[in-house]
Parts: sequence; structure tokens; C-alpha cells
Amino acid sequence: MLCPFCSKTDTRVLESRIMNDSVRRRRECSSCTNRFTTYEKAIIHLKVTKRDNREQEFDIKKVERSLERACGKIEPEVITQLTRKIEQRILNKRVNTIKSTEIGLIVLQELKRFDKIAYLRFATVYKSLDRPELLKKELNTIIRGGN
Ligand SMILES: [Zn+2]
Repeated sequence: MLCPFCSKTDTRVLESRIMNDSVRRRRECSSCTNRFTTYEKAIIHLKVTKRDNREQEFDIKKVERSLERACGKIEPEVITQLTRKIEQRILNKRVNTIKSTEIGLIVLQELKRFDKIAYLRFATVYKSLDRPELLKKELNTIIRGGN
């Protein structure tokens, strides 16, 4: 790590703290004794292909926000857990690009297991269940316990 004050590379870690998705380190330069902080964060190289074929950087925050919308009033930790599970399923595909529709299907599968009402809320947007008969059909599959 290059010291921002003197550009020497010899720094000492005074303290490491594990944050939610990163590691924060307090450092001291062995040359000039100035102190600074660094953050270490895992970077994932994954692109999402949208329905209109545009590509976007994968952003788990978008999944999290759509889960929040679908689940309504719910403990934030539950959303975090569900988001993490979905993220792991996506990353374990070990691909460089994924279709947004594929992500949507994974979210649907997890929501179906987790909360039928949240599943329906998400499905109305995702599957465009804008006609009552489509919604009824979807409801029937849930009532029958199908997947
Ligand atoms: Zn220095």
C-alpha cells in the first residue's frame, strides 16, 4: 500500500475491522508516521443483459430494492439474508454475463419458498401479470402448491 503522504510502500496495519461487505484497516506509514485508512472490498465482474439487450454492471442493490418492494413491511435482516442467498446463487453460476430474466427467475424461486404474497407482488411486475385471469392462474398454482 502506497502512503498518500510520502509514497513509500512500507506501512503498518494498526487495526482491522470487518464491516458488512468490506474490511477497514487503519494504517501507519513506517517512513513518515502519517496515518490513513484503507478499505478492502470484493469486486465482482459480472454483467447483466437487459431485456432490450443493453448490458449493465451487476448490482445486488437492485435485487435488494425489488425484494423490499415485494416484501413490504419486514425485518431488514430478513431482506439482507434473502438478498445474500440470491446473490450466492447468481455468483455460483460462475458466468461473466447473466440475463436479467434469469436473475428474475431466481428471485421468483426464492420468494415462492419464502413468502407467497411477496412472490405474487414480485410476479405481477416481473411476469407482467396485469390481467386478472393471469393473476388468477398464478394464484391457483400457489394454492395447489405447484412450483
Ligand atoms: Zn509516508
